[in-house]
Amino acid sequence: MRILVTGGAGFIGSAVVRHLVHDVGAEVLNIDKLTYAGNLASLGSVESMPNYRFLRADVCDGGVMRQAFAEFRPDRVMHLAAESHVDRSINGAADFINTNVMGTFELLQAALHHWNGLSGEEKEGFRFLHVSTDEVYGSLGDEGLFHEMTPYDPSSPYSASKAASDHLAIAWHRTYGLPVVVSNCSNNYGPFHFPEKLIPLTILNALEQKALPIYGSGANVRDWLYVEDHARALHLIASRGRIGEKYNVGGQNERRNIDVVKRICAIMDRLKPQGAPHEKLISHVTDRPGHDARYAIDATKLRAELDWNPRESFDTGIEKTIIWYLDNELWWRPLREKVYSGERLGTLTKV
Ligand code: NAD
Repeated sequence: MRILVTGGAGFIGSAVVRHLVHDVGAEVLNIDKLTYAGNLASLGSVESMPNYRFLRADVCDGGVMRQAFAEFRPDRVMHLAAESHVDRSINGAADFINTNVMGTFELLQAALHHWNGLSGEEKEGFRFLHVSTDEVYGSLGDEGLFHEMTPYDPSSPYSASKAASDHLAIAWHRTYGLPVVVSNCSNNYGPFHFPEKLIPLTILNALEQKALPIYGSGANVRDWLYVEDHARALHLIASRGRIGEKYNVGGQNERRNIDVVKRICAIMDRLKPQGAPHEKLISHVTDRPGHDARYAIDATKLRAELDWNPRESFDTGIEKTIIWYLDNELWWRPLREKVYSGERLGTLTKV
């Protein structure tokens, strides 16, 4: 099984690559541009494995994508490359439109060209998994869950660009027959998460006794999934998902942002008592423009059809994650010092 993964140096992509190389034993080609969010240090455990190779390239470069397909001849594509941070999309949407929309278009075209040249079992077995987010569905009120038929209603430039890419992927199936499957997942957390997102930022700021910023009142609800549970789900969906279908992925772990931060503080009080109580560092800041109130996923289809279940609850996963950050300063210290030191992103400025 030859699997072409895009965005494999990112947070979820690197978990997918580690799973495919170590647990599945697939031959993996990782294509990644290495933006600020891409980090080869997340792939140390696979870099010398004979079934892993890396190509630094931009998914927007259609010529290079076609060449990569021709040389690697994948049986499967798992497309994760994207600009992924909502706050950055508020300050600079162009990169999101380029990579998430145009990049997906170029990759679909390259995959279609490759697939059209296949025959027999190779053509039958080929799959293109487009990896997306629950943010395409917009915001929920206090009740209800997102299911696969929930209409799209994105709020941010990020989620709008992902919605566009989902539509392209499904259209390439309906129009050209490309065997596409789409996944929409809730918020992930876990090891190797770039420290601009809520959970790693809170852990590292708490460790360094810095302010723990909470947008608005902190009442926004997210449905948290441990990244390795997501990686296993993606492999299942790419292997056995039905062509032309969408699958929601979620951990049934709804938490208000303020409760996530307080939970991290409580664990830090135990693991780093010299900084306790860490809750004193909580600082409420201006809310994110267009901030969705609540996301929650109904993953019944994935559980029923593909027999997937998350292994981590939020309580077990967050403890593992905090311990990982405490043990892996060599991974995060260069990012905090040279790439992003925690300043506020995503406030409104004149465009
Ligand atoms: P990430 O920002 O950590 O990683 C993205 C990776 O894509 C990086 O390695 C980056 O270098 C690479 N990349 C960016 N632009 C590229 C380009 N033009 N060409 C090639 N590579 C490029 O993102 P993530 O959190 O790992 O998310 C991966 C995918 O999963 C994204 O498609 C995202 O929309 C989706 N997703 C994320 C979450 C989440 O909670 N993080 C939840 C659901 C879905």
